[in-house]
Amino acid sequence: MERQQMFINGQWIDSESEKTREIINPFNQEVVAIATEGDTRDAKRAIEAAREAFDDGNWASTPANEREYMLFQVAERIQENKDELARLESLDTGKTLTESVADMDDITEVFRYFAGLADKDGGEIIESPIPKSSSKVVREPVGVCTQISPWNYPLLQASWKIAPALAAGNTIIMKPSEITPLTTVKMTQILEEVGFPKGVVNLVLGAGATVGQEMVENHNVDLVSFTGGIETGRKIMNAAAGNMKKIAFELGGKNPNIVFADADFETAVDQALNAVYFHAGQVCSAGSRLLVEDSIHDKFVDALVERASKIRLGNGFDKDTESGPLISAEHRAKVEKYVEIGKEEGAKLVVGGKRPEDSVLQDGFFYLPTIFTECENDMRIVQEEIFGPVLTIERFTSEEEVVKRANSTTYGLAGAVWTTDAKKADRVASNLRLGTVWINDFHPYFAQAPWGGFKQSGIGRELGKQGLEEYTEVKHIFENHQPEPVNWFKG
Ligand code: NAD
Repeated sequence: MERQQMFINGQWIDSESEKTREIINPFNQEVVAIATEGDTRDAKRAIEAAREAFDDGNWASTPANEREYMLFQVAERIQENKDELARLESLDTGKTLTESVADMDDITEVFRYFAGLADKDGGEIIESPIPKSSSKVVREPVGVCTQISPWNYPLLQASWKIAPALAAGNTIIMKPSEITPLTTVKMTQILEEVGFPKGVVNLVLGAGATVGQEMVENHNVDLVSFTGGIETGRKIMNAAAGNMKKIAFELGGKNPNIVFADADFETAVDQALNAVYFHAGQVCSAGSRLLVEDSIHDKFVDALVERASKIRLGNGFDKDTESGPLISAEHRAKVEKYVEIGKEEGAKLVVGGKRPEDSVLQDGFFYLPTIFTECENDMRIVQEEIFGPVLTIERFTSEEEVVKRANSTTYGLAGAVWTTDAKKADRVASNLRLGTVWINDFHPYFAQAPWGGFKQSGIGRELGKQGLEEYTEVKHIFENHQPEPVNWFKG
């Protein structure tokens, strides 16, 4: 089996320790690849290479339109390699091939978008209050950026970081989740083929506690961009403080999906299913917390339960499969623990709540789509991110009440409101403390729109022009056109 290697300073290499890790398919636990397992020594080498490549100034001063052209080439090659990339993503995560293909199209758009932005910000001339002078504000790359991505959307999350960082002229060290490295390795091969200079793009493989820790502590790093869980985010924030690194965080969510009685019923039911069960609920923006107006609550629950119980679980490569497995045994155990907590808290389990009995699913980390009703605001299953196919449903009777409940978690990533009353939709959208609010829809995100969280769901934004700005420092350059002595000091 071919070994997945790291890419440091323009070379594909094994780790210093020569240790390896088996990469498994969560559908059947088969080993699909062997990856070299890096440690702090490898992370240090990659950071040194990126530091040198940034400090020599060649990449940062490459004309922006050349960087743009290179990123467009990356987008082209992602399309050319789309089938292979999608196959690897489904092997690694268990998600359906259809989803993986859609991810690759999204990733292509991300590279196109940031390619297009690369040469659009020519700086800004500002009014100077000082006579015979001029002032301009320019953006420059931050420097050496470490980038750490999670396992749920391995290449999509990596691309949200890689594309803007390179567009702005930074050098990077990317670390995918240790359990899902395959597509990020393939992407790095594409970046190598496109010809980014030596040391500009580096890839390290390995665990968060070793490789990741070095990437966030090392004083040669200027910025750390992280997508993952909130507890890991907290550790990274502390570790990054040593040299006051800039940080950009995309963390978890407990995303409210609010359905008023005047909503289009069928569409709201259909989208409530997509909102929570897409990719088995392993989505940071999953609509895992449904709030339904009292007068339609029972009818809504009946319709959802009927459809949730028919979701076809299976191999992501089978055309009939609607949802794949969870990512790992540990992650399924975490979901199961939350279901037990929900029962103890007094929520009513109305569907799912166990593993499927189908014999062909026994080797995978499957869990049935699950619904709890009679949920209360202070329950842990309502407040905490479960990151699996578990939906909690609450009833509400007034707009004021539902907004208060929806805003009551420590998270603030995304959410939706369903109503045919445009004024109500606007009011609720503006009162929700969330980075993204969807009105009469759930889940749309695209390269042009900023993505990120209020409160503990994140710091900074990815995508949109804000996603490029994260990777820049702002500089003010003032010029006096007729310098003269000021004579403050008379001696
Ligand atoms: P995780 O926090 O366990 O790991 C994410 C990454 O951090 C991995 O690459 C891991 O190796 C690394 N890591 C772990 N400990 C580290 C440390 N001490 N120092 C440096 N790096 C370390 O998260 P996960 O389980 O892979 O992903 C699931 C989480 O990601 C969920 O909470 C989900 O909501 C979140 N997520 C958020 C978004 C978003 O856009 N807001 C998108 C996707 C996933």
